[in-house]
Amino acid sequence: MNREAALVVFSGGQDSTTCLFWAKRNFKKVYALSFLYGQKHQKEVELAREIARKAEVEFEVMDVSFIGTLGHNSLTDTAMVMDQEKPAGSVPNTFVPGRNLFFLSIAAVYARERGISHLVTGVSQTDFSGYPDCRDAFIKSLNVTLNLAMDEQFVIHTPLMWIDKAETWALADELGVLDLIRNETLTCYNGIQGDGCGHCPACTLRREGLEKYLKNKNQ
Ligand code: ZN
Repeated sequence: MNREAALVVFSGGQDSTTCLFWAKRNFKKVYALSFLYGQKHQKEVELAREIARKAEVEFEVMDVSFIGTLGHNSLTDTAMVMDQEKPAGSVPNTFVPGRNLFFLSIAAVYARERGISHLVTGVSQTDFSGYPDCRDAFIKSLNVTLNLAMDEQFVIHTPLMWIDKAETWALADELGVLDLIRNETLTCYNGIQGDGCGHCPACTLRREGLEKYLKNKNQ
């Protein structure tokens, strides 16, 4: 397999965009794969396409919209109001069950077809929002499973696993894309690009991380 190419699971948000540029630094050839999964803010895929064009990486979108109809969650169900914080003892209703399992499994098949053995995902255990499929144990387990399933030697890279949002901004800055990520990515649960709505959980996490990073940088 091609050890010089990597496939990034890419949503056009802060984390996966940071991973896209991290992959560009570490691999000769980078592919970005986005998913339509019935998310309310489908324009995130168009923003992802534009970022991939600027990054000069191969870009493809897979339509897996049916997974949005499998379960109830506020990222795909327009009738549901998103949880503003993690409810005690359960996952927030922004959790899409099986999403990372599903996306990474498809990404692995897609990569295998192209002889790519490196997969990159922006999951992080540090700012753990209660999503079990963002944890390191899950990723390691899936890596073993994918290799057994396809008799391959995939390596799943998680550059953000142990860093917080401030350190993710630091990495973006080090990669020379802080402004691009700040202005062109979409992380906001209310679908507003860049600095977003400012008050949803994703915007709050992103803003607090940026403020912390800029404060440390300017000291
Ligand atoms: Zn927001």
